[in-house]
Amino acid sequence: MPREPIRVGIVGVGKFALDHHIPTILASPDYRLTAACSRHAEVGGVRNFKSIEKMLSQAEHLDAVAICTPPQLHYEMAKCALTHGKHVLMEKPPCTSQSRLSHLIELAGVHGVSLYQIWHSQHAPGVAPALALLKERTLRGARVTWKEDVRIWHPGQTWIWRSGGFGVFDAGINALSILTRLIEEAILPLTAILYVPSNCETPIAASALLQTASGAEIRLEFDFRHTGVQTWEIDFDTDEGPLKLSAGGSHLTVGDSPLPCNAENLRGEYVSIYERFAQLVSRRDSEVDARPLELVADIFLQGRHVSVAPFSEAPQ
Ligand code: NAP
Repeated sequence: MPREPIRVGIVGVGKFALDHHIPTILASPDYRLTAACSRHAEVGGVRNFKSIEKMLSQAEHLDAVAICTPPQLHYEMAKCALTHGKHVLMEKPPCTSQSRLSHLIELAGVHGVSLYQIWHSQHAPGVAPALALLKERTLRGARVTWKEDVRIWHPGQTWIWRSGGFGVFDAGINALSILTRLIEEAILPLTAILYVPSNCETPIAASALLQTASGAEIRLEFDFRHTGVQTWEIDFDTDEGPLKLSAGGSHLTVGDSPLPCNAENLRGEYVSIYERFAQLVSRRDSEVDARPLELVADIFLQGRHVSVAPFSEAPQ
């Protein structure tokens, strides 16, 4: 029997809602885009609201919401939707604290609805084959290089520089989500340095040394000031030779040989995400990987904060 489409409302009509969520929802027979909520932006062909409270009380027949606002708002938005009995798909990074994320998991259970905390990089085409190979090998160490120009990828997004905005970890947490997908055992931060511009509340760059429970060292280098070739790479050293994930997990190289991956870029990652959400909703199950947020919280707690030159595009 074909399922009725899930009637979904978008919350936060910005870059990622417009580039990925809305096109994916519109192209899928599993969904019907029913409403949108944003303070300024509007979506054509659906009812638009200025607040989530109005959307939830006035939009008819809404089954689910997709939360695409800045992370400082995720918790309040998700709490509101869950307590109204709506299924929730929530963009990364999940919340500004682990206690908030735990509370959302609890609320989803109490109200019998699905909470799907998404990590789009876990759906990158190189990640599943990397997982299969790493299961057969022993990890000796890894190096994560996540360096991009924030002016290109986050133009005008001043929320990134405010408390709870994650700074360079808004991108770096994607790398951490790949690590937590590929490495089952505990990953523990040993040392970290966070470089915080003197006019910002969040780091623009960071380096850290982590260690798995069995002793493999993982070095992280994150930098939002990077110009030139944009680099999102993880190099794994294993007992059977090197593995390299590049282009944010889209490509996998085993030794010297690139593995053919169905590299469909981010669009493919969001198709996979919405397929998974439909499965979860049909079973009223939740799926939350809290480990990337735990790692960021641990790194922020343990790391040494170093003040660096002001960032010219940050809020004054
Ligand atoms: P963005 O372009 O700043 O979009 C967020 C939108 O949220 C804003 O345009 C704003 O539109 C809306 N908003 C702000 N406050 C609101 C409120 N109180 N009620 C309703 N809407 C509100 O940011 P983005 O890049 O799309 O990122 C959104 C989320 O996706 C973040 O969690 C981010 O980490 C994640 N993400 C981003 C990327 C990326 O590369 N950009 C990649 C993957 C995931 P109005 O002015 O109309 O309210």
